[in-house]
Amino acid sequence: MSGYNKPLPLITPLSKVFYDACRDKKLMYQQCNDCGEIIFFPKHLCPNCMSRNLGWKESKGKGKIQTFTVTYEAAPPEFAADQPYALAIIRLDEGFRMMTNIVECDFNTLSCEMPVEVVFDAVTPEITLPKFRPAVK
Ligand SMILES: [Zn+2]
Repeated sequence: MSGYNKPLPLITPLSKVFYDACRDKKLMYQQCNDCGEIIFFPKHLCPNCMSRNLGWKESKGKGKIQTFTVTYEAAPPEFAADQPYALAIIRLDEGFRMMTNIVECDFNTLSCEMPVEVVFDAVTPEITLPKFRPAVK
């Protein structure tokens, strides 16, 4: 057993592509080959034109905080030991958004539009979660 007691993502044939890439420290998203729509979380159909002609692309893993919250208390039991923790929606430079944690920082310094970059947290041998930290540059 890994000792990781928090909920893990549901692995499907489609999400497996994304999480296998995370394990290799790559943040992947999809783009529709017919209309150019940027797609995240992975889908079988383009939500814009219903095409099945979707391709995978690798994100540079850079973006900005769109919004965030820091939980100091009353977290669900599985997350109580992590308090305080920051939950955020990140707007990636490629044009998709993802909900994630912000780590490796003083939460008091976080602000909307702050540049962030992806880091990969291997929580189990199978699952690596993409999280973000303030961009170093
Ligand atoms: Zn499309």
